[in-house]
Amino acid sequence: MHATDNLVLITDLDGAIEWVNDAFVRTTGYPLQEAKGRRPGELLQGPDTDPATVEVMRSAVRDGRGFATEVLNYASSGREYWVHIEAHPVRDERGTLTRYIAIETDVTDRRRTEENLRRATETALSLAQEKAGFLATMSHEIRTPLNAVLGVSALLEGTDLDAEQQEYVRTAQRSGKLLLALVNDILDFSALDSGRIDVEARGFSVTDLINDIEAMFSTTVAANNGLALTFSVADDVPAIVVGDENRIRQVLLNLVGNGLKFTHHGAVGVALSIAPDRGPESGTDPHDGMSLRIVVADTGIGIAADRQERIFLAFTQVDASTTRNYGGTGLGLSICRLIAHHLGGSLALDSAPGEGSTFTFIVPVERTVAVPAAQRPPAAPSPEGVSSLRVLLAEDDATNRMVALRMLSRLGVAAEVAQDGEQAVDMVRANDFDVVLMDVHMPRLDGIAATAAIHDMCTDRPRPRIVAVTANALGGDRERLLAAGMDGYLSKPMTLGALEGVLVAVANGDLTRSSSVPEPLTARTATVIPDASRTSGDHGGTVERATVSR
Ligand code: ADP
Repeated sequence: MHATDNLVLITDLDGAIEWVNDAFVRTTGYPLQEAKGRRPGELLQGPDTDPATVEVMRSAVRDGRGFATEVLNYASSGREYWVHIEAHPVRDERGTLTRYIAIETDVTDRRRTEENLRRATETALSLAQEKAGFLATMSHEIRTPLNAVLGVSALLEGTDLDAEQQEYVRTAQRSGKLLLALVNDILDFSALDSGRIDVEARGFSVTDLINDIEAMFSTTVAANNGLALTFSVADDVPAIVVGDENRIRQVLLNLVGNGLKFTHHGAVGVALSIAPDRGPESGTDPHDGMSLRIVVADTGIGIAADRQERIFLAFTQVDASTTRNYGGTGLGLSICRLIAHHLGGSLALDSAPGEGSTFTFIVPVERTVAVPAAQRPPAAPSPEGVSSLRVLLAEDDATNRMVALRMLSRLGVAAEVAQDGEQAVDMVRANDFDVVLMDVHMPRLDGIAATAAIHDMCTDRPRPRIVAVTANALGGDRERLLAAGMDGYLSKPMTLGALEGVLVAVANGDLTRSSSVPEPLTARTATVIPDASRTSGDHGGTVERATVSR
């Protein structure tokens, strides 16, 4: 007992110390004479000693039992240390309890390490939050000037340019769109990766979804001789299902986009059917649940077996030459798989090099008898009436103002301008506008406050439609803006097609808050655009329009 580094103390039946070893004296700073006759509790416990632990030890001693626990003690100097205590009752030959012996190990270092780990975890969590905030701000800050770059180069493209100049402008456009796609992907990936996404459950038409996808890729398909894009929907797939249409569309766009990108001859086929079960995370609740199975199969270059799992990792492609030959960031499939998991489904791959790839996306949905909430606008809305609209543009940034005004003038619209929210409210008070294009971040009065003011002012007169124009592209933004009283939403960089879509909706009286709000381009929609222009020399106009006209 003298030689060990463990602390040893012996107490009598009342718990008063009879003897302690040298290690006890070294650690506590109390010599034997001082410790003798006192209870370990009163000698060693202090303000931060856990009272519940003390009670456990006391009651064990009262009942004549041994115990083992960890407790915070205080040395005579006030220094805190943690010990693991093992206490045993000691009995004589007749089995009568005579005293207690306690053996204590100093576990301060281990405790400290645990505490540090806990703190490190907390720090990591708060850093992750900061990172998410940083990404949101960064993407907003990048989008604002990018909006101007893309807008101005689109305008430049429409001027009298020679062949060389046209080539320069197209390169600037293509690079701008790629940069935008990258920003969107990084933002989307980070939101999905940290689980910050809301899953929507709304009724949507499966046929409409398929038609949208077909329309979006029509330019790409048309530009590739001998490449076909086919769709088939099994008979038992209901016309309308309840699920997260936007996320399902995003996955489909990505898979079909990849299929077309990596297939040079043959076809990309999309087949929808009902999966026999709800997929890997299926619950036992069968009420109206079922799973859609969406199979995207191509006859393209295929993927070697040892690469098949890797391509689902962020920023990975089959090999380094992929970026050179096909572009892309390697984020698409990782985003798709995260989405599949968030929706409670799965995404799997079957592929053979030289033969093609088959992606199987299984996603739980529900049956419904109700019609979809949002009735679609007419398939080909006529732009007539747009030029007669009275438009107010509220935008504080001079470059973006110029871009928007030029786009409007392309559409035959002469708009008036407000430089901040306060001015916008004043101008609405004094004039009758049909629509206000409202920047969200503005000095003096922001777009949300200005919208509230316009609502208040227009209780007894017709209210102009208010369309938010914002560089925020985070999930939930659209809902937040609509909840604030906006009727529609355009995300920056604003495209001519999207702007036209909104104005046509206003002119047709279709833009009401509950329905037919043009969706912002989803993250992956944007990536499709450069592909279309790569193969056709067309600038993806069809692609954009197909997206925004719904
Ligand atoms: P990227 O933006 O690079 O296309 P993805 O995550 O969508 O990123 O795809 C990752 C990689 O997986 C691609 O770069 C490509 O090498 C490979 N890949 C994806 N889809 C296919 C396909 N249908 N056929 C062959 N290879 C594919």
